[in-house]
Amino acid sequence: MKTRAAVLEQFGQPLVVQELDLAPPKDGEVLVKLRACGVCHTDLYTASGADPSGYCPCVLGHEGAGEVAEVGAGVEGLQVGDHVVTLFSPECGECVHCRSGRTNICLAIREQQGQGYLPDGSARFSRDGAEIRHFMGTSTFSEFTVMPEIALAKVNPAASFDAICLLACGATTGIAAALWKAEVTAGSTVAVFGAGMVGLGAVAGAKLQGAERILVIDPSSERLQLARRFGATDCLPAGADAVQQVLDLTEGFGADYTFEATGLTAVMAQAVEAARMGWGLCTILGVAGKGETLDIIPRWLITGRRVQGGSFGGARGRTQVPELVERYLAGDLDLDGFVSHHLQLDEVNRGFELMEAQDGIRSVILFE
Ligand SMILES: [Zn+2]
Ligand SMILES: [Zn+2]
Repeated sequence: MKTRAAVLEQFGQPLVVQELDLAPPKDGEVLVKLRACGVCHTDLYTASGADPSGYCPCVLGHEGAGEVAEVGAGVEGLQVGDHVVTLFSPECGECVHCRSGRTNICLAIREQQGQGYLPDGSARFSRDGAEIRHFMGTSTFSEFTVMPEIALAKVNPAASFDAICLLACGATTGIAAALWKAEVTAGSTVAVFGAGMVGLGAVAGAKLQGAERILVIDPSSERLQLARRFGATDCLPAGADAVQQVLDLTEGFGADYTFEATGLTAVMAQAVEAARMGWGLCTILGVAGKGETLDIIPRWLITGRRVQGGSFGGARGRTQVPELVERYLAGDLDLDGFVSHHLQLDEVNRGFELMEAQDGIRSVILFE
């Protein structure tokens, strides 16, 4: 079949929206008709050429939601018409990691996915017979995509696509980190470094868990203003004295839980130091550049602070994304508040421009 898709042809150049051929789903695979897709920083990072593991040509996009249009042989858990959220982090349920219940890092298809292929080592996208590779196993900047069943979360069809697509990456990363990775407790004090999509998700999650105080640290006064909508109680400007500001507001102790959502190693160090002596837990969510290292003074750890990290906020996608959709439908999570712009697929490069200008939190591409 044919599909219109945004292709990364050359690093550092705008994506080119064009018609591609898309082969039908093979064993264990599903054809998804996209309905909405967020434009995430990771797409821009790869498109810019800054990601050393990037490749092209490929179809970018990984924050998608849509409907099942066709299922390949052996697909048992999904049917045509089901509503799904795409997962760059699959959940096979059978590998040693999935069975452990202790991590969301599924081992089933990592190698092929990292190289831009579906699990059988081939691509479904092509142009004039030449393959165009997939991206993050998702390639959702396309009217249609083919994905493994284990990388699709079946969700309640009552939820609107333009809200739940955000659960495919940014929103879940922050929310799941607060709910399930850090397990923020009621009455606690939380400090969130970075008020982009991920940081605001952590704020919303901390509020849902009943945190009493939520400090948010960010250089942008607009973002800090927005953070209040999601539950921030104290908004602080980012800078070299951020740790001192947190200490001043917590009787000199620091926060019970800190979250880092900037990808900057200097801020990660602040988030560790701002965690409370004795039991403070710092959760690192930002992705640092390749080769960068994090300086931690050992005394911070000896005196009881703990540090953890979590890709996708530690969420097990097929199990927990549907739960977050239910919480959205119940009115517990304001996903709509994250959406700042709606775009057409042809305007995908505008989504990157808005992101670089820090205009709004998330642009969402809507499909017919
Ligand atoms: Zn993302
Ligand atoms: Zn697995």
